[in-house]
Amino acid sequence: MQSTSEIYDVIIAGSGSAGMMAAVRANELGLKVLVLEKAHKIGGTSATSGGVIWIPNHGLGTADSREEALRYINSVVTGPVRQDRIEALVDTGPQMIRYLREIGMNPVFMPWPDYFPEKPGARADRSVVFPLFDGRRLGDLFPLIREQFTRFKLMNRYSMDFYEANTISTRGPGWIGTVLRVMARYWLDFSTRRLTRRDRWFSLGASLIGPLVQRLAERKVDIRLGTAVKKLVWEEGRVTGVEAQRFGRTETIRARHGVIVCAGGFEWNQALRERFFTVPGNTRLSSTPEEANRGEVLEAGMAIGAATEFTETGWWVPTMSVPLPTASNFEEIHQAVFDVGRPHSVCVNRNGDRFVDEACGYDRFGNAMMEDQVKTGANTPCWLVFDATFRYKFPAGGIMPTAIMPDRKIPVDWWDHYIFKADTITELARKIEVAPAKLEAVVSRMNEYAQTGVDTEFGRGGNIYDRNFGDLNLKPNPCLGPIGKAPFYAIPVGLGDLGTKGGLKADAKGRVLDQAGNVIPGLYAAGNASGSPFGNAYPGAGGTIGPAMVFGYIAANDIAAQAKNPKPIR
Ligand SMILES: Cc1cc2nc3c(=O)[nH]c(=O)nc-3n(C[C@H](O)[C@H](O)[C@H](O)COP(=O)(O)OP(=O)(O)OC[C@H]3O[C@@H](n4cnc5c(N)ncnc54)[C@H](O)[C@@H]3O)c2cc1C
Repeated sequence: MQSTSEIYDVIIAGSGSAGMMAAVRANELGLKVLVLEKAHKIGGTSATSGGVIWIPNHGLGTADSREEALRYINSVVTGPVRQDRIEALVDTGPQMIRYLREIGMNPVFMPWPDYFPEKPGARADRSVVFPLFDGRRLGDLFPLIREQFTRFKLMNRYSMDFYEANTISTRGPGWIGTVLRVMARYWLDFSTRRLTRRDRWFSLGASLIGPLVQRLAERKVDIRLGTAVKKLVWEEGRVTGVEAQRFGRTETIRARHGVIVCAGGFEWNQALRERFFTVPGNTRLSSTPEEANRGEVLEAGMAIGAATEFTETGWWVPTMSVPLPTASNFEEIHQAVFDVGRPHSVCVNRNGDRFVDEACGYDRFGNAMMEDQVKTGANTPCWLVFDATFRYKFPAGGIMPTAIMPDRKIPVDWWDHYIFKADTITELARKIEVAPAKLEAVVSRMNEYAQTGVDTEFGRGGNIYDRNFGDLNLKPNPCLGPIGKAPFYAIPVGLGDLGTKGGLKADAKGRVLDQAGNVIPGLYAAGNASGSPFGNAYPGAGGTIGPAMVFGYIAANDIAAQAKNPKPIR
């Protein structure tokens, strides 16, 4: 059954970082906004994320510059990227940060090295985060914000910000006090404990989405949940609205001035992965909220002639499929961002060959897996192999260090499919079906590198990014420790993603282009629904949400500018 027809100035499909930024800005500029969100929760992948945004030259008290930012970006981007999109991002990012401050948010930069530290113009201060946000300020919307994955919480329950998480996971100075403070913050919150198990303190991605939702709620902007955009309405040469479905009912909703597609990528659509990706992988290895981003609006755009770009790849992350102790027959996708590069370990493909500097950024690691898979057919999955010293010092795939989780505490049904263990490298190699002589040779070379401090094959630990996440007590190279103490372990590593990099092809104002390169009037795209301005590169921490928000902001600005000269559709 089809019903019609409400009318708004702007319709935004998707309530992630791109959509929320676009909605806040469009409302600020006097437009009547409707946000349509397919899920029954607000915030998309963005709310579940680390909430880091990469904004070069952000103006928060560092010595970065427009020129340095452009130098760096242009040295890392790949594929047919467009300079005007890159410049729009670099020029508007600082304006957006100023605007976020004006509306009461408190962005702060953190010392995180760019992901290509060896490239000209690289810095370690372009990633921006937001402080804890009190979710109860959202009133009735508090329980409707997407919740973080359990693995991002202390003991699957307590919210932590980056500094708390880092102090606790590295057992840095004062870590026990930090654990106690985080727990006390939760248990002393009696009013929330009566209401829900959820922590009132939103951290990471939720601390970015929370204040934006608060702003929209205060200004009575409509956010309609459980409503999936299925089609774009095309009339008289422009997009004039959407067809949306809610509980099986279809309705047409009109937009006087524009539709902004912020509906995320297509990582949960296997058919689109097979059609576009170089290595299709599997939806199940995506680490984004299950079944949310299926590329429906991308397909709706393609149906009216929109062009696409950079759809061949995703924002990669090595993953481990951890059996979920709290729910039978389910696995949680663990992002092995740091696990694969810690000292006293090595990664090999199924032929037993190394293929990457394991301590590099996660998207680089994923690209290396993909390239190796294309070359050898023996990657995806590959193996993380480590020894008892690693087990003692670091977590891996949700298995905490031995002091907290000795082997006897690992559930019995995890052995020999999720985690493998043997007394010798030869025996371990046999268990994981890698040629023993190959694995022994790799381990012995790694042990030599641990002594000399130089990985002559892949340069592991040879740059500031790698070293940042190594063991600083380890000399001469914090990323290289001997793999020598039995028992030895292995965990399979999959090619997972944080979303997709390609989508609708948009211009520097966020306007979607058709196959001939003309603007499709009334249609905008931002975030993973659009092609990344960086092509297939992930320049630094926050490199997906930063541009998503900036292009959401730019699209809203452009629609408002066009609306000053409105051409009403009825
Ligand atoms: C655990 C984790 C940590 C991460 N950490 C970071 C980080 O710190 N920094 C960073 O830059 N990136 C990070 N990423 C990646 C980042 O979260 C995503 O790339 C980013 O959130 C994409 O933002 P978006 O607004 O485009 O899409 P999303 O946040 O995914 O939002 C899209 C929304 O659209 C909705 N939707 C989908 N289809 C429809 C439809 N047909 N109609 C209406 N609505 C629809 C979805 O339900 C969703 O709510 C992380 C990812 C994960 C999984």
